[in-house]
Amino acid sequence: MKITFNGAAGEVTGSRHLVQTSNTKFLLDCGFFQGKRRPTRKLNASFYFDPQDIDFVVLSHAHLDHCGALPLLVNRGFSGPIYATHPTKDVARQMLRDSAGIQESDYKFMKKHRIPGAQTLAKPLYTLKDIPKTIRRFRTFSYIRQENVWHKIHPNVNLKFYDAGHILGSAVSVLDINDNGRKIRLAYTGDLGRKHTPLLHNPAYIRDKVDVMIVESTYGGIKHRNLDEAYKELTEIVQYVYENKSKLIVPAFALGRTQLFVYMLHHLMDTGLIPKIPVYVDSPLAGRVTEVFTKYRDDYDIESKLDFPRKGDYPLFFRTLRYTKSRDESKMLNNIQGPVVIISASGMVENGRILHHLKHSLRNPKNVILITGYQARDTLGRKLLEGWERVKIFGRWYKVNARIKVLNELSAHADGEDLTDYILKTKGVKKVFLVHGEEDRSQALRQNILKRNKNIEVVIPQFGQSFDI
Ligand SMILES: [Zn+2]
Repeated sequence: MKITFNGAAGEVTGSRHLVQTSNTKFLLDCGFFQGKRRPTRKLNASFYFDPQDIDFVVLSHAHLDHCGALPLLVNRGFSGPIYATHPTKDVARQMLRDSAGIQESDYKFMKKHRIPGAQTLAKPLYTLKDIPKTIRRFRTFSYIRQENVWHKIHPNVNLKFYDAGHILGSAVSVLDINDNGRKIRLAYTGDLGRKHTPLLHNPAYIRDKVDVMIVESTYGGIKHRNLDEAYKELTEIVQYVYENKSKLIVPAFALGRTQLFVYMLHHLMDTGLIPKIPVYVDSPLAGRVTEVFTKYRDDYDIESKLDFPRKGDYPLFFRTLRYTKSRDESKMLNNIQGPVVIISASGMVENGRILHHLKHSLRNPKNVILITGYQARDTLGRKLLEGWERVKIFGRWYKVNARIKVLNELSAHADGEDLTDYILKTKGVKKVFLVHGEEDRSQALRQNILKRNKNIEVVIPQFGQSFDI
């Protein structure tokens, strides 16, 4: 068996891992790279394999850096099934539609303004019409009450999903592979969640014996603070915004972080710890994803149900909360008086409506910008985090006077200790590949694993590198 890492190697985006055996070839995730336009474009447009040769894809979850390139794969001849959980299919449909829409409008904008390179840099890799035929390829399973169910997905491969606790529908995959008579068990974590995150179950430990693991390492070597501290800090921030009649701007991923943040505000308002100020979720995608959440209320964890026991009280809806729909409604927020909370995408502040909100808020020292998730290199979010005094938005410089706050506790990723535990609690592991992390994070995780078990071989693959198993 051979594994080739075609992305998420030394970085956190572009998950697409190719597994080849004597009788099959398949992909674990097929995501988009995110970052600087020029190099990213090239990476996203290139597969270093022939999509027609791929028998199937196993999709861990619906974040674009894991599923974003699926329509392109289908356009280039992939005709096999895509295995995922039920919610992942529903959410992926929304995410991919949104991604196609952004690509189409980006291209139109660059062409209209005659920005050089429109053809080479912004021509959509797929459009809205490509989404239905991609979604038709999905074959879905559940992991709820399915601990002992293996699904035969190929004459030589069985698949089992475990709850990864990262976002709605996220799964850890365990593959039972027969490579010409040789049995190999391969586990792939996708993105692994944090314990005790509202709305989600804790990541489920793998109960099967496994030989090889591919594990994410976003927060390797980092220890997250307790969620209670995040609640405390959020209370203080909202109080500050209330007293100063200012704005709290929260860039957040439409999928996952937005729902968690809304849940926390709802909880704090219900318990009287913060005043009931207006909250806007200004992202049509977030609104649509939230609708998927309501469809899968059984997938919520028990603690979240206890927080909202009353009939008709839904965790993701409350009286002062509004999901904006139209562009006009969004523009109206530019001139709104505080106190107000505006949650908007994209999470790494690269595109979308959040840029308009920042443009109108960065100069006022009373406003607060709250960073809630991982910010990749070269993104505007990373620059705010690093304390840049001026930042460029739509070609103009803006002075950063607003307060920048960080709540890493809201991360949807396990921290270094949890990742190490997850690996060491899986029985039989001889070899671990650390992906989906910047070099220093993966190295830190590697050290932590080796400190506790010297017999496991821990490898940090480079982009394009292949390994025989
Ligand atoms: Zn993810």
